[in-house]
Amino acid sequence: MADNIVWHSHPVDQATRADQKSQHPLLIWFTGLSASGKSTIAGALEQVLTAQGYHTYLLDGDNVRHGLCKDLGFSDQDRKENIRRVGEVARLMVDGGLIVLAAFISPFRADRQIVRDILPAGQFVEVFIDTDINVCRKRDPKGLYAKADRGEIKQFTGIDSPYEPPETPEVHVAADRLSVAESVNQLLAYLHHAGALRAGYVPLAVEEGGPEE
Ligand code: ADP
Repeated sequence: MADNIVWHSHPVDQATRADQKSQHPLLIWFTGLSASGKSTIAGALEQVLTAQGYHTYLLDGDNVRHGLCKDLGFSDQDRKENIRRVGEVARLMVDGGLIVLAAFISPFRADRQIVRDILPAGQFVEVFIDTDINVCRKRDPKGLYAKADRGEIKQFTGIDSPYEPPETPEVHVAADRLSVAESVNQLLAYLHHAGALRAGYVPLAVEEGGPEE
């Protein structure tokens, strides 16, 4: 970076924007294997938050690869750059006062730590969507495990590319034992206890009979 670039502070800051929205800006970072349920659970949580008047944005792993990160592949180096870029974008959105949900496999601990480190203290919530790989294989909504097994996709996380689970995530969701609604409610309860929600949040109704697969 050039030496003559300095940070310019502006009169409207994160606190102003957060006050305007009456909310606590936050980055809720979902990590887990492909098909573990990150996008589904993040989308369902975003729906609840939006319905309750929060201002949110969901950054989705597949979607950013159509634009912001379309020049990147799946080598370790490209995965690192993917997460770095997304982290910077998420940081700007959180600075804009939003509750940002990010759903990325983000297999490497060090890369997730880099994102945590660029967010203001207390504004990064790591959510481990912990679904056994055999359940992911069974769900496989995009048929990616089947393709990886046939050798049509290389460097597939959990098969021929590693996944480093979080050691101390803020929320650990056993998404192979919970329904989507139960996972969302676990997250709402965490956010409530962390003081990130206004009083009186409404959990989702949970159907009897356990999770579908
Ligand atoms: P990821 O974003 O982690 O790749 P997706 O959310 O795209 O995963 O895919 C998970 C798939 O599993 C979806 O098709 C979803 O409907 C299905 N699914 C079934 N049961 C659950 C559950 N209990 N929690 C989350 N997803 C589930």
